[in-house]
Amino acid sequence: MLNYIQKIKELAKSLGEIKIMEVCGGHTHTIMKYGLRELLPPNIKLVSGPGCPVCVTSQHDIDCVVELALEGVKISTYGDMINVPGTKMSLKDAQARGADIKTVYSADQVINDKERVFFAVGFETTTPMTARLLQNNITVFSAHKVMPPAMRLIADNMRIDGFIDPGHVSTIIGSDAWSNLNLNVPQVISGFKPDALIRAIYLLLRMIKNNEVRVINDYPEVVFPEGNPIAKKLIRRTMKACDSEWRGLGLIPKSGLVPKDEKLDARIIYKDVFKKVKTRENPGCRCGEVIKGLIEPNECKLFRKVCTPSSPKGACMVSEYEGACAIAYKYGKSLSE
Ligand code: SF4
Repeated sequence: MLNYIQKIKELAKSLGEIKIMEVCGGHTHTIMKYGLRELLPPNIKLVSGPGCPVCVTSQHDIDCVVELALEGVKISTYGDMINVPGTKMSLKDAQARGADIKTVYSADQVINDKERVFFAVGFETTTPMTARLLQNNITVFSAHKVMPPAMRLIADNMRIDGFIDPGHVSTIIGSDAWSNLNLNVPQVISGFKPDALIRAIYLLLRMIKNNEVRVINDYPEVVFPEGNPIAKKLIRRTMKACDSEWRGLGLIPKSGLVPKDEKLDARIIYKDVFKKVKTRENPGCRCGEVIKGLIEPNECKLFRKVCTPSSPKGACMVSEYEGACAIAYKYGKSLSE
């Protein structure tokens, strides 16, 4: 790793200010845990992008599922989701008022639970599990998102010089999916160890210096050009693309997935319940800017003072593994601290 840090320092001398975005909560976790930002020269900035599924789930989707739970519909979802504050309350608050909400580590835990609606979130990595539920006739409220359209939006509208592509997502969609996207910035698909991320940064800087715009797959032991064909087929069979609302990024065309079978789509089955939902962003919370890499968590006035992992005021403080604010809280550092 030291060798690559030295190489990065050498390369950085011939570059101006460079902004590299990591688009995976797992990468953000490694970067903060091992203090990788502090190892880089001052002109090489790492910013976190929309890589945390809990964080990018829209406030309106949280509110809809809270409303559903309060109406007496039995819900199941991943553990972190119940702590995300909605406009009126979180799912945890709804649970305290008697709503029947089951939390799971894996969607497989509710594969036979036909009486519950599964609140499904996540990127391409967790979508195959939801696809399996749909094969088993489980009703789903899907907030699933796909990453390439979001990255295109960021690449086209923000000043980012390179992407560290999400490793887990890439195992499903494959490295060809990134190459075929033809973004206007270099990309490196990286693993999750600190030395892998440092090498990814070096490879990006080398491409930036040489004006090369291409995708390097630096995680070839698990990411194949075609991805995971079985998972992709399962998703294609059970789900279809839809426009999707992302916290911070707004409505992105064709960036979400919903069940193909409308009889299993909770958004359709319970559409009258959702008409009542009135959504408002949480006052003072700057998650939208954190998700776009425009500010660091400590630039939000609520950070550490009133917003903490035990009392989150925004979605980015919920997941200690993927939420930028929760990770910054845990490891005590962010770029400008
Ligand atoms: S510190 Fe809390 S309120 Fe502020 S942006 Fe992060 S999650 Fe939102």
